[in-house]
Amino acid sequence: MPEDKLTILVTGGAGYIGSHAVLALQQAGYEVIVLDNLSYGHREIVEQVLKVKLIVGDTSDRALLNEIFTTHKIAAVMHFAAFIAVGESVSEPGKYYHNNVAGTLTLLEAMVAASIKKFVFSSTCALYGVPKFVPITEDHPQDPISPYATTKWMVERILSDFDTAYDFKSVCFRYFNAAGANPDGLLGEDHAPETHLIPLVLLTAMQKRDVISILGTDYPTRDGTCIRDYIHVADLAQAHVLGLDYLLKGGNSDVFNLGNGSGFSVREVIEAAKKITGREIKTEERDRRAGDPPALVGSSDKARKILGWNPQYPDINEIIAHAWQWHQKRHA
Ligand code: UDP
Repeated sequence: MPEDKLTILVTGGAGYIGSHAVLALQQAGYEVIVLDNLSYGHREIVEQVLKVKLIVGDTSDRALLNEIFTTHKIAAVMHFAAFIAVGESVSEPGKYYHNNVAGTLTLLEAMVAASIKKFVFSSTCALYGVPKFVPITEDHPQDPISPYATTKWMVERILSDFDTAYDFKSVCFRYFNAAGANPDGLLGEDHAPETHLIPLVLLTAMQKRDVISILGTDYPTRDGTCIRDYIHVADLAQAHVLGLDYLLKGGNSDVFNLGNGSGFSVREVIEAAKKITGREIKTEERDRRAGDPPALVGSSDKARKILGWNPQYPDINEIIAHAWQWHQKRHA
C-alpha cells in the first residue's frame, strides 16, 4: 500500500470492469477520479456506490484533459474507456477507431505533456485472433480479426513507441472473458445492449428473455460448443492494482494475459447456471456467430510470476453465483 494517498485517473470508471477497478483501488488505499462520458457507463455507480469524483467527458477532449492534469496531481492513469461490441465494430469501424484509438492517443499526448508517464491499459485476448495454440501465452502471434481487436492492438503499438520516445511506462492487460460481479453485490455487469453469454443466460433464467441461443454446435470441441476462459471481474480488478503498483515501483512496460487457464463450453455454462439459479433456462441451437474461434484459453503464468497475481475466484460456479446475486438485485 502506498504511504501517501496517490490519485489515479480511471477512464471508463462508470463501466463494468472500470467500476470494479475503482473499488479495488480504493481498497488498496488510492484516491480515484473517474473520467467517463457516460455513453454506456452509470453515473449512480460512481457517485452513489463508489462515491468518487466523476468528471463527465471524453478522452478526445484535450482541453478537458489539460485542465484535469493541471488541477489534480495524477500519479497514473488506468484506461478502460472504449467501445467493446465486436459486431458493431465491423459495421461501424470509424466509431471504434475514433474513440478507441484517436481518443486514447489524445489522452496519451496530454499525459506526456503533463509529465504523467504511468499507464495501465485494458486490452484484450482478441488481438491474438484465431489461436494457433492453447493455452495462449503473451508471445502468441497477433492477428486481430475485428476492428475492435485492431484498435486494442494499435494502442499497444502506440504505447510501445511512446515508451521508446518518452520513457512512458505501461502495463497492458489482455483479458479473456470477464465475468461475474463484486462478491458483496455492490457492482455488476449492466450492458445495454447485452451481448455476453453469462448475463444473457441469467436474464433468461429470470424470464427477462425467452430463450438463450447457443451460437454454434458443430465446433471441434468436447460438446460442439465454443470454449472460453471466464475470469472473475474482481480478479481482473486486483490485477490492475498489482500492475499499477508494479509501475509505480519503477517496473518496465509489459503485457500480461489475464485468464483462469481453464475453459468452459457454452453448454457447460448453461448447465452450471441452471444448478445455481434453480430455474429453467430454455435454449435454442443456432448457427455460429461470425468471428468466434472454437476455443480461447489463456495462460496467465506471467502475471502470476511477475505481478504476484493470484485469482481468488477461479471457480466458474462462483463466478456465475456472484453474477446471479447482482442480477437479482439489479432487476428486483
Ligand atoms: N454465445 C452464445 N450465445 C449468446 C452469446 C454468446 O452461445 O447469446 C457464445 C459465443 O458464441 C461465445 C461464448 O458464448 O462462444 C462467449 O461469448 P461472449 O459474447 O460472452 O464473449 P466473447 O467470447 O465473444 O468475448
